[in-house]
Amino acid sequence: MEQSPVAAPTISVPHSAPDIGEEEIAEVVAVLRSGWITTGPKTRELEEAMGRYLGVAHAVALNSGTAALHLALEAIGIGPADEVIVPTYTFTASAEVVRYLGARPVLVDVRADDLNVSLAAVERALTPRTRAVMGVDIGGHPCDWAGLRALADRVGVVLVDDAAHALPSRLQGRLIGTWADLTAFSFYATKPLATGEGGMLVTAREDWAERARLMSLHGMSRDGWQRYADGGSWYYEVLAAGYKYNLTDLAAALGVVQLRRLEEMRDRRAAIAARYTAAFEALPELQCPAVASDCESSWHLYVLRLNLEALRLDRAAFIRALGARRVHASVHFIPLHLHPYYRETFGYQPQDCPVAYAEYQRVLSLPIYSRMTDAQVDHVIGAVQEIVADHRA
Ligand SMILES: *Cc1c(COP(=O)(O)O)cnc(C)c1O
Repeated sequence: MEQSPVAAPTISVPHSAPDIGEEEIAEVVAVLRSGWITTGPKTRELEEAMGRYLGVAHAVALNSGTAALHLALEAIGIGPADEVIVPTYTFTASAEVVRYLGARPVLVDVRADDLNVSLAAVERALTPRTRAVMGVDIGGHPCDWAGLRALADRVGVVLVDDAAHALPSRLQGRLIGTWADLTAFSFYATKPLATGEGGMLVTAREDWAERARLMSLHGMSRDGWQRYADGGSWYYEVLAAGYKYNLTDLAAALGVVQLRRLEEMRDRRAAIAARYTAAFEALPELQCPAVASDCESSWHLYVLRLNLEALRLDRAAFIRALGARRVHASVHFIPLHLHPYYRETFGYQPQDCPVAYAEYQRVLSLPIYSRMTDAQVDHVIGAVQEIVADHRA
């Protein structure tokens, strides 16, 4: 029999992978055996644990981060006459929820240093119709919430945090979730706390939390668990035309364990980020993400920027070269004002948000997740260094 040559050991690095262990699996199985699989005791347990962890009075579990953003804006009464300021450098969910309510998302530019919303751009975009300002903690790096708070209090608008990336992130030692008036977390499969699909809205205001809870389940006065549990009554009242946004106990079971492991998973991502930065910061072709001294990032993303004038390949070619080395990079984000929907509906031009437009062309996100092995981290570092060395201008 002919011997085929032994192939070199191959290593592949997906862009993202959830960190689900035996504890999570056991918790889900326990819910399956309990006979109650939709919203019930596990969901309440997750809400209470999240509220305690963050130090926020009210936590409403939902089936997506998008639902949390939607119900945040619904709770504060956003309607067709209103404007909500949203950074252009984000995922479409941040702005689409403004459209759900018939209001106008006013897209604004970001700061070059951390790609978070620019306070000066928010100032310029304020009108008498502005009801809320949204910040997005990109990659887990906190926005300037102290600055946004001062501005919001001065002009009388509500602050909403799209914190889909920012669990756990801290600003001045205080967790994200405690800064804005309402904060939306995502538990999507790739996010720092993953339940497959899921989300959580947190707020200190009881009336907003009650409204979100009501609207999360058809506008019904009591949920199924309250009706069917021992001693529950069949009676309920429909108080509004609500939505179907409730989290299941199956998902909440994952969340309860993931929340316990949150800091441990973050520490692993922070260690990977430190290794990337140590390997790349001396290369003039690359710009590593900076973390401000009063910030702690969740390190949901590691956004590397290319100094394109120092390289003979563009960002798309860089990502292809990584792919050829089995490293799967991505782009966070294609600014919203460049997408056909926002461009055609609101008439945006690329130069309306020049910082976002320029930075977008040189960003790529490297794999960073707690399940990455040291060998995978080494492989990514080697691949990036090799591509840079091969393409110096
Ligand atoms: C993932 C994400 C969302 C939406 O979260 P889902 O749970 O998928 O609905 C919103 N905003 C940003 C910035 C995100 O990355």
